[in-house]
Amino acid sequence: MSETRDTMKFATKAIHAGFDYHQHNRAVMPPIYQTSAFAHDAVGESLEFAYARTGTPTRAALEANFAALEDAAHGLAFASGMAAIDAVLRATLKPGDEVIAVADLYGGAYRILDKVLAAQGIKVTFADLSDAANLEAVISSNTRLVWLETPTNPLLGMVDIAALAAIAHQHGAVVAVDNTFATPYLQNPLNQGADIVVHSATKYLGGHSDVLLGLVAVNDAALFKAIKFIQNAAGAVPGPQDCFLTLRGIKTLALRMERHCDNAEKVAAFLQNHPAIDKVFFPGLPEHPGHELAKRQMRRFGGIVTVYLKEDSRAAASRVASRLQLFLLAESLGGVESLVNHSYTMSHGGMPPEQKAALGIREGQLRLSIGIEDIDDILADLAQALAE
Ligand SMILES: *Cc1c(COP(=O)(O)O)cnc(C)c1O
Repeated sequence: MSETRDTMKFATKAIHAGFDYHQHNRAVMPPIYQTSAFAHDAVGESLEFAYARTGTPTRAALEANFAALEDAAHGLAFASGMAAIDAVLRATLKPGDEVIAVADLYGGAYRILDKVLAAQGIKVTFADLSDAANLEAVISSNTRLVWLETPTNPLLGMVDIAALAAIAHQHGAVVAVDNTFATPYLQNPLNQGADIVVHSATKYLGGHSDVLLGLVAVNDAALFKAIKFIQNAAGAVPGPQDCFLTLRGIKTLALRMERHCDNAEKVAAFLQNHPAIDKVFFPGLPEHPGHELAKRQMRRFGGIVTVYLKEDSRAAASRVASRLQLFLLAESLGGVESLVNHSYTMSHGGMPPEQKAALGIREGQLRLSIGIEDIDDILADLAQALAE
């Protein structure tokens, strides 16, 4: 199928790319190859698949399918989004190098940069890159990697991938984008100048809150080789069941994302006029500082809405979260079901309070992952939870 990769439209690629049923006894779905090893006929025989850490047909189907969705030459699957991030960091950085990361980023990415990399003699600089010119001010000849996330977790900040990639490349740095919130359906960072795309497929790609998995897409052959080397050398790979579940999730990604986006737009409009809400963060709102950029860089605005409650306290956030019936209070996002997250204590619990204050992550703040339930039920649940 790979020869037709460039001509198929997204929803078709999601279902067909990267898998040739002729090679799998005409199985319509990629089979789960639950085996750790593959038998050789003779000593010295070279096999496409020999040992499951290095590769399996189920994982290969996922990697090829995902690469097509990101318009990339290569895809690589990992045991989690963090394992994917770790592999990219290890493949691109060595002691003495510097990484510049967008300051408003996923708590786990912040933790590995701040706690793990910094201890390995790699300089980590967090910067507000909402204005691309800020990168010029902090980039140095030691900067090997620029780490971006857009939209960011949890405040949906936007950064300009093309503008930042142009500056980074002038200085010889590689650009990685965590595309988890947008998904390849809404944004393809490689086409905008980035070198590496990372996903927590645990979120929208899997889409059903039943699998933990990470993905990396690249075009450059040398980067692919370096990250694939870490994938095999360190071995943080997903099992075949998890690859299968992610492949199954991806088949409906286009449908699901349209509904996530529809519902999130309606939720943002509803909350914006609600007396219990101080501020709504959603890139689809004209007053969002990244709105114009979002219109340019993304196809739609995504399924996450974050709010500041009028009463800025943990008690207020806790009261609303407990009253919600449909929205479960959980860490994750991007599943078919609506979830609510208290970023301050949950996704960003590990971030120092000063850092949270600087970024504007408040106690009285909730991040809503808008599911694909009927919008009337979603709005009714929010209305009753926010009532006086
Ligand atoms: C969840 C998440 C991750 C980490 O992925 P895991 O699959 O949980 O390891 C990384 N980046 C973003 C933006 C996320 O939301």
